[in-house]
Amino acid sequence: MNSPESSIDAANAIRESVALATGPNATISQDDALMRVSTDQLERLLHDSFEGPAKDVLTTGLGASPGAAVGRIVLTADEAMMATDDVILVRQETSPADVHGMQVAVGILTTRGGLASHAAVVARGWGKPAVCGADGIEIGEDHILVNGERLEVGDVISIDGQSGHVMRGAIGSNQAENIPEIDTLLSWADEVRELAIRANADTGEDARVSRVNGAEGIGLCRTEHMFLTEERLPIIRTMILSSSPDIEAKALQDLREAQRHDFVDLLEEMDGLPVTVRLLDPPLHEFLPELEELVEAAARNELDADGVAMLQAARKWRERNPMIGTRGVRLAWLKPGLYEMQVEALFDAVQDRISAGGQPIVEIMIPLTVSAKELAGAREWIESVVQSHPAATSVKIGTMVETPRAALVADELAHHADFFSFGTNDLTQLTFGFSRDDIENRIMNLYLEQELLEANPFQHVDPNAVIELVRTGIERGRSTKPDLPVGICGEHGGDPASIELLAAAGVDYVSCSPPRLPIARLAAAHIAIKARRSH
Ligand code: PEP
Ligand code: MG
Repeated sequence: MNSPESSIDAANAIRESVALATGPNATISQDDALMRVSTDQLERLLHDSFEGPAKDVLTTGLGASPGAAVGRIVLTADEAMMATDDVILVRQETSPADVHGMQVAVGILTTRGGLASHAAVVARGWGKPAVCGADGIEIGEDHILVNGERLEVGDVISIDGQSGHVMRGAIGSNQAENIPEIDTLLSWADEVRELAIRANADTGEDARVSRVNGAEGIGLCRTEHMFLTEERLPIIRTMILSSSPDIEAKALQDLREAQRHDFVDLLEEMDGLPVTVRLLDPPLHEFLPELEELVEAAARNELDADGVAMLQAARKWRERNPMIGTRGVRLAWLKPGLYEMQVEALFDAVQDRISAGGQPIVEIMIPLTVSAKELAGAREWIESVVQSHPAATSVKIGTMVETPRAALVADELAHHADFFSFGTNDLTQLTFGFSRDDIENRIMNLYLEQELLEANPFQHVDPNAVIELVRTGIERGRSTKPDLPVGICGEHGGDPASIELLAAAGVDYVSCSPPRLPIARLAAAHIAIKARRSH
């Protein structure tokens, strides 16, 4: 990811390329200008970056979300909220309960977790610098130990979300540079590219940024992310943990009301463009209370009746492998009515937008399906709402393809899907058997150093097995439905090397985090120009 060129050099290169291709005296074509600018050069200008070579490096983790951040160390989301100056939130890993602190911190540093972990995905979505899986750091009560060196809460550190460096003190940085030539270049890119570009966006604000950055729609709205706030988290916890139908029904109603407003915001910002709403896919461990904390509180006699009930439920629902446990459509089979309620909320929002004179376009996506019957059943739930809701018209219902099985039975899935979207985060996890939360800390560096793997497959899509599964999934899906639209919405959708391989495998669109849209647009233009030139 790192390029030795400074952002000033990159800005000059872009200015020069655009100037040479502009006006009556242009000496190169627009295609030439596009080919002269690399995605690395563009990347340099989109984020703040540290000046000069790295210094005072304490440790290095994974560069999980590019950018440079300088701030005081805080160890909890609440401390971050209370701070009046710039802070870096340091956590072992993050969960929805940390999101309020992640929002206000200038940077996020975790000691566990990889490029597709919660901290990485959320930070990248916001364009906030993050370093993940820095396992040289141990977190204490009021300090951190970095490879044995002690830093107190309140000490200043700098983190580089590109290189993964964690540095002592405040390092000087260059600000992102929004030169007008970038817009010109990207408008030329849009003229030549064939691949459509959508955004992974969960809120109205994400959608606004996506539109500014040139998204042609939303390819993935992770609806579980709509429950990341402190007020919302209890609703989803109640829904998951409750054993009483009444309480569960009330939680579902609350869910409907909350989602309706979220969807309105999203549809308003994306008016006239497709918005793909993925039904709930909450990895349970991200939404359940920390069992250890509850056990400790119980030992101190600090739990009230609700706390005790929560402890029992948390014990009952605890899973050894939550990323391959009760996730995606499986949860909906366990909690009847859940997906119907989400679809009701979506069409309530559609109704609101139509009444306001808007042009909402929605698509519905079912996560983590593994069998045709499982998908057909989920489709029926959605269709039952479509038939009864006054605002519902025909709507595309698709599935994510994110398990090897789904890719291999894609011909069967396609009977029940109007589109496919490959979830390459999970597909990578499941193809390699590499936990996306754990493997990048201990194993990945070793494997890269020893050249057991050529690249981190969570960063650059695996050109062998994962791409083979994508290609096979597309071929088999289209053997059932020749015109089946296919996208990808894993983190690889913002990585130029992966985009090239995915386009060659036959995807129609990539969906990536909003700050990466310009990179994806330029990468897609490069692919189209190269293809034209090779014919
Ligand atoms: C994926 O698995 O690639 C995906 C987009 O879904 P999520 O990251 O939410 O699991
Ligand atoms: Mg997934």
